[in-house]
Amino acid sequence: MKSPKDGFQAEVLDAIDIGLIVLDEKRAIVGWNAWITSATRIGADAACGHTIDRLFPESSLRRLAVALDDAFEAGTSSLLTHSLNPYLLPLRTRAGRPMVHDVSVRPLATTRGQRCIIQIVDVTLATERERILRARQNARYGAVVDNAPDAILTLNSLGIIELANPAAHRELGYAHSELLGTPLREILEEATIWDQVWPSILAGDLFHGPLSLAALRKNGSIAHIELSASRWLSEARTYVTVILRDVSDRRAVEAELRSLNETLEERVINAIAERNLLADIVETTDAFIQVLDLECRVLAVNKASSDDFENLYGVRPKAGDDMLELLADHPLERENVKGFWARALTGETFSVIHDFDDASGNRRHYELKFNSLRDEAGQLIAAFQFGYNVTEKVLHQEQLARTEEALRQSQKMEAIGQLTGGIAHDFNNLLMGISGSIELLRRRINTGKYDETQRFMDAAATSASRAAALTHRLLAFARRQPLDIQSIDVNQLISGVEDLLRRSLGEQIVLKIDLRPDLWPTLTDANQLENALLNLAINARDAMVEGGVLSITTQNEFLPRSMKYGEEEIEAGSYTIIRVSDTGTGMAPEVAAKVFEPFFTTKPIGQGTGLGLSMIYGFAKQSHGYVRIESAVGEGTTVLIYLPRSEEVPKGAASDADEVSAGAGQSVLLVEDDSSVRLLIKEVLNELGYSCVEACDGETAMAVLESNISVDLMITDVGLPGMNGRRLAEMARGCRPQLKILFVTGYAKEAAHTEQFLQPGMGLVTKPFVLDVLAMKIRDILMKRHPANSRP
Ligand code: ADP
Ligand code: MG
Repeated sequence: MKSPKDGFQAEVLDAIDIGLIVLDEKRAIVGWNAWITSATRIGADAACGHTIDRLFPESSLRRLAVALDDAFEAGTSSLLTHSLNPYLLPLRTRAGRPMVHDVSVRPLATTRGQRCIIQIVDVTLATERERILRARQNARYGAVVDNAPDAILTLNSLGIIELANPAAHRELGYAHSELLGTPLREILEEATIWDQVWPSILAGDLFHGPLSLAALRKNGSIAHIELSASRWLSEARTYVTVILRDVSDRRAVEAELRSLNETLEERVINAIAERNLLADIVETTDAFIQVLDLECRVLAVNKASSDDFENLYGVRPKAGDDMLELLADHPLERENVKGFWARALTGETFSVIHDFDDASGNRRHYELKFNSLRDEAGQLIAAFQFGYNVTEKVLHQEQLARTEEALRQSQKMEAIGQLTGGIAHDFNNLLMGISGSIELLRRRINTGKYDETQRFMDAAATSASRAAALTHRLLAFARRQPLDIQSIDVNQLISGVEDLLRRSLGEQIVLKIDLRPDLWPTLTDANQLENALLNLAINARDAMVEGGVLSITTQNEFLPRSMKYGEEEIEAGSYTIIRVSDTGTGMAPEVAAKVFEPFFTTKPIGQGTGLGLSMIYGFAKQSHGYVRIESAVGEGTTVLIYLPRSEEVPKGAASDADEVSAGAGQSVLLVEDDSSVRLLIKEVLNELGYSCVEACDGETAMAVLESNISVDLMITDVGLPGMNGRRLAEMARGCRPQLKILFVTGYAKEAAHTEQFLQPGMGLVTKPFVLDVLAMKIRDILMKRHPANSRP
C-alpha cells in the first residue's frame, strides 16, 4: 500500500483480500493497496494524487459520487451492493473476467483531516453460487408447480393470467394459449366475490382461508373450486399466485350425504312399514308357517299354523317348543312330521301332500312345502315349512274325477246304445240264418230228402260261428272275455290259419308268411290270437283295395330294459313278436292315434264297427303283452303284437279225432239250467263214451255228490239259479276233494279273472264252444295231462 507512514501497517493492508482506496478531503487518492492494483491493473503510484473519475473516465460512477458526497458532507456511510449496482467499478478478476463486487464508503476523521475510505469486496464467486442455488430452487419450484394436482395460476396486477400449470389446463379444459392473457374473473362463473376480494389481495392483506367459487370449464360444465391467493413482488412488479382446487367430487359426495340425511328418516319409516307389512302378512296369511331349528325346536310359527296345530293336537306351539315333544301323544303323526323335518333339515327342498285328521275326525289334506334356511356363510341353520289346507281342492278334484268318469261311462253307454241297434240287426240276421236252416232241415228230414240236409247244416253252422265271433268281439271290447291262456306255438297257429287268411284276402293280395324257426313258446289265448290275425288281415285287405302284399313274420325279442313307446312303456322281458305288415294306404297320425279307441272307424256304416283294433289291444293287454302300430300315409301299416315268452313247452295240436273220442266210460255230472244246452252237452258226452248224470241246479248236484254215485268229473255252468257254479264247486270239493271240475260260461264277470278261482283239477270252457274243444277239455282234465288251471 502506498502509505504515508508505517511500513508494517502498509504491508498488512497490502496482504488483505479486500480492495482499499483512501481519499483525502479533495477526493484525491491517498491510499491504494495491492488488491486494488491487481483488480484495476493500475499501480499505486499511478493512482495516488488522482480522483477516481479521473482514473476511470468511461465508467458511470454517479452512485459512488453520491456515496462520497454523503461521506464527506454528511459523515454517513453507504453500502453499494452488487445486486443493485452491478459492475460499479471496472474491476477484473485475476482470470481477467469482470469482477462482481460490493463497495462500502465510510467517512474517516483523522489527525490529518477529513478522509474517506472505500472498501471493495469480490463477490463474484458468491454471486455465482447464489445464482446456481437459485436456479436449482427455481427448478424445484417449477417441478412442484408442474406436478401439482391443483391449478396454479400467476396473475399480474390487472388480474390477467400470465402463467398456468398443466393442472389448470387439465381441470378447466382450456388450452394454454386460451388461458394466458385472459382475466381470471372471466373464467369464474360468478365473479362478484372475486371482484370484492381482489383489491385486498393485491394490497397484500392477509388472505383468510380459501374462497368457495365456481369456475366455468371450457365444455360449459361447472367446476366447484376452492381458491387461495398470495401476492408477491418481483422487480417492482406485483404478482398474485392463485391456487384453484377442484372440489366438485367432494361437493357431490357432500350433496349426496346431505340428501341422504334429509331422506334418512323417511326411508327408516318406509323400511319399518315394509317389515311390518310383511310381518302382518305372515301373521294373517292362511298359509301355515313354521320355522324349526336343527334340533326341531320351534323358532317361529305364525297364527294360522298355531291355530291349526291347536285344533289338531290340542296344544299351541310357541317359539322354543320342541316340535316332536308337542306331538308326543300322537306317535303316528310324530313319526310323519319327524320324517319331513329330518329331510328339510338336511337341506332338501320338497313338497308333500299329507293327510291329517282333525279333532272331529274329518280327513284334511295339506300341501306342505319345506325349505332350508342358511346363514350368510351358507351353513344350514334351520328349515321352514309353508303349509296349505288343500282339502277343498282335493275334494273338488275327486268330485271332478267322479264327474268325468260318469261322463265317460255315459258316453260309452251312448255309443253302445247307438251300436246295439246295429248289433241286434246283425244278430237277428244270424239267428234268422240258424233258425231258418234248422226249420228247412226238419222239413227235409220229415220228407225224407236226406241228400239236401248237408247244405242247411253248413248254413246253420256258418251263421252260428259268425254269431259267436260277434259276441266274442263285444266281450273283448268290454274286456270281460275270459282268456284261456296257455303256452302255445305261435308259428303253428299261424300256419293253421294261413288257409283261412288267404281266402279272406282274396286273389289280389299276396300273403307272405315268414316264421322264425326256433320261435319261443308263447303265453296267450289261441282263439283270441287267431281272431286278432283275422281282424288284422281284414283291416289290411280294406286298406289295399287295389291289391298288395300282406306279410306276417314272427321273431324273438329280449328287452334288457323297459322301452318307451308313445305314452306306454313296454316292460323289460322276453317277448314273441308277431308282425303284420301291409302295403296299403297307411294312416295319418291323427287316425293312428285313435285306432285303439272302441268304435273308432273310418269305414262306412255296415263295413266297420271300430272294434277290431280295440279288441286286439284289450287282448294283448290281458295277455300281459302290447300292440304297436307303425304307419304313415302311403307307406302301409305294420302292427306288432308283443306276447310274453312261455317257459313251458306247448302241447301239440289235439285235434286228433281218435284221441278226442277216448272217453272210457267215466261218469260225468252235468249241471246246467238251460235244458237245450244240457241236452247238447249230454249228447256230446254220450257220443264221446262218457256216462252222464244230469242236474238242473246246484242243490240237485249236491244231492248226487253226497250220494255214493260215482262221479269222475263235474261240468257246471257258472251262472246257475240259486247257488252259482263257483259256490257249488266249493261245496263239491268240500265233500269230494279230488273231484275234477270243468266250468262252462258264456258271460261272467268273474270268468275274466279265472286265475282267482280256478284251482288244480279245474278248467274252464267258454260258450259258445265247438264240440271238439269241449271234448279236448274234458279229456285234458280227466287225463291230468296238463294243469287244469292254465295260468301259471
Ligand atoms: P274297423 O276295421 O271296423 O274300422 P278297426 O279297429 O279294426 O275298426 O280299425 C279302426 C280304423 O283303423 C279303421 O277304420 C282304419 O281307419 C284304421 N286301420 C286299421 N287297420 C288299418 C290298416 N291296415 N291300414 C290302414 N288303416 C287301418
Ligand atoms: Mg277292423
